Amino acid sequence: MSTCLFCNIIAGAIPATTVHEDDQVVVIQDISPKAPHHLLLIPRKHIATCLDIAEEDRELIGHIHRVAAKLARERGVAESGFRLVSNTNADAGQTVFHIHFHFLAGREFQWPPG
Ligand code: 5GP
Ligand code: ZN
Repeated sequence: MSTCLFCNIIAGAIPATTVHEDDQVVVIQDISPKAPHHLLLIPRKHIATCLDIAEEDRELIGHIHRVAAKLARERGVAESGFRLVSNTNADAGQTVFHIHFHFLAGREFQWPPG
């Protein structure tokens, strides 16, 4: 078994509520939601942090943003707004070292973040 939580979720070894999946990305509900819509867009490929994204991942990162836009439209939050957040390393609060994008929507968010 992989030691990576999200690799295990993608492999089906750890259960999660999946709302979208395709050949490149899996989208699950966050176990501890911080907004009415709190999804995690996770590439199937294990990439530890933003700092590890390679040139060959360019299309993958673009695809993740396209999936986020599709989910926003499907959930009726495209016009009201949503936030796509990826935390990198300690100061940003990254806790799972397999890149993922938080999709947050359904309430108003503060800026700058805390
Ligand atoms: P990070 O802190 O790395 O930016 O985001 C990790 C996210 O993963 C957190 O929002 C946390 O709630 C979520 N998370 C942690 N463990 C699990 C889990 O077992 N299942 C799901 N669905 N989400 C998890
Ligand atoms: Zn992983």
